[in-house]
Amino acid sequence: MSTIHTAVLRDLGIQAVNPGGSTGSTWWSGRNDGSLLPSINPSTGEQIAGVYPCSADDYQRIVKESVEAFRTWRMVPAPKRGELVRLIGQTLREKKDRLGTLVSLEVGKIKAEGDGEVQEVIDMADFAVGQSRMLYGVTMQSERPAHRMSEQWHPLGPVGVITAFNFPVAVWAWNAFLAAIAGDTVIWKPSPKAPLCAIAVQQICNRVMQQQGYPGIFSLFITDQPALADQMVQDDRLPLLSFTGSVPVGRRVAATVGQRLGRTLLELSGNNAVIVDQTADLDMAVRAIVFGAVGTAGQRCTTTRRLLVHESRYEELVCRLVKAYAQVHIGNPLEPDVLMGPLIDQVAVEGFRAALDEIKKEGGEVLYGGRVLSRPGYFVEPTIVRAKNEWPIVQRETFAPILYVMPFQTIDEAITLQNHVPQGLSSAIFSNDIRHGEQFLSAAGSDCGIANINIGTSGAEIGGAFGGEKETGGGREAGSDSWKAYMRRQTNTVNWGRELPLAQGIKFGS
Ligand code: NAD
Repeated sequence: MSTIHTAVLRDLGIQAVNPGGSTGSTWWSGRNDGSLLPSINPSTGEQIAGVYPCSADDYQRIVKESVEAFRTWRMVPAPKRGELVRLIGQTLREKKDRLGTLVSLEVGKIKAEGDGEVQEVIDMADFAVGQSRMLYGVTMQSERPAHRMSEQWHPLGPVGVITAFNFPVAVWAWNAFLAAIAGDTVIWKPSPKAPLCAIAVQQICNRVMQQQGYPGIFSLFITDQPALADQMVQDDRLPLLSFTGSVPVGRRVAATVGQRLGRTLLELSGNNAVIVDQTADLDMAVRAIVFGAVGTAGQRCTTTRRLLVHESRYEELVCRLVKAYAQVHIGNPLEPDVLMGPLIDQVAVEGFRAALDEIKKEGGEVLYGGRVLSRPGYFVEPTIVRAKNEWPIVQRETFAPILYVMPFQTIDEAITLQNHVPQGLSSAIFSNDIRHGEQFLSAAGSDCGIANINIGTSGAEIGGAFGGEKETGGGREAGSDSWKAYMRRQTNTVNWGRELPLAQGIKFGS
């Protein structure tokens, strides 16, 4: 570890060994019998620091304090709740460079992406501050005389937020800031592959909560034990469970929360396609495809995984992509000219290798890349493969930089292929034909939660509602009216007259 990185960690409150639980006030969990959870730098395979995961008792303490804090927090005026989020956003601005470096160190994103992720957290704080003054309900016209009908939004309760490794701070912010201004408290279970980013954010929140006298709004619960995570999922003191991760785990979470008739917000795997038609601007398309397929080493839920190209542009586009891929500098994500860092761990490297074995067995042709790099850390080559959409490997999300290219003849065929996967997160078309664009956006077009024209699949802005359909889970987070998921809606009818007209004109009693 360089002295610069040691200073970054110190400034963010990260020690050699860290407690993995905090109630968001002054309490941090202590050492327990569980084994130390190492945080590994995926660029080197070396340990950055260690974390004591939470015990079952720690979990109980965290939930108890979160429930208690909710009782007070729900009665704090929403704009004042926004002020707490504003102050956290301000501290994050001051720490952006260092936190961005920690994101790069712990999950291997290039520095620009690490900083970009922290900026997203800051933007989300700003968005939530504004939203805290706009938790609007509507009024309705009553069918009865001297009656007024309206609806209002109330806080929901403590919210559980389980996040994936690949957005180690942003996904928390999409949920936590909206939940907080909505009057909820938040218990965060981050990925055990990125515990230090979560601890750094919790340190910032703790300081602001303490200054403002509102403990227990944001809590941290780090565990690497699925059984303990499951305890959180089963806990009916948490009326909403927001889960971001893979389809297999998300399916289990949905079933468990469904069993207790709780609410879920599911943000699961994607299998995103770009369509390039005969009229597309290839300069724009190439840049968007390379960024979408290679960025974050193919470890974004919105990564471009499938490329559907009109047969008349196929040869030219593939040739240009191969040239662009050859320019991608792979290496230490903190070096300025590096465009692609490592995969998260050895399991991910094995997933990449297994996918290529399966592709070759199916008869796929590797057009670029395909190798695991022999150097410390978990590096692979960005890869382009000629494939068929119906192959089982193409139907699944392999969380690695593998792009499947497929030619098509008509726009109808392209849209059918684009939709013909179990997932439904992000999609894009590159076209200068207005008819193709409109067909793609129509009710018979893309079936995804995100559909773009002339920009790629990756990198959504926080102002829109983010999420996807089908196996992606149907949840929506961040912008638009996503805040409603964190509140309970109440319909109110007030009779200000002196009669009691019953519904449906029924005459009941004297
Ligand atoms: P993962 O499913 O392995 O883990 C996600 C989280 O679930 C982690 O915090 C993990 O510790 C936790 N978990 C594991 N077992 C659990 C259990 N039994 N009960 C409760 N929680 C449990 O996913 P990952 O490898 O961290 O992330 C990659 C996946 O996340 C990809 O599929 C990606 O597409 C998806 N993702 C989706 C979005 C989105 O917004 N749609 C965003 C980011 C990542």
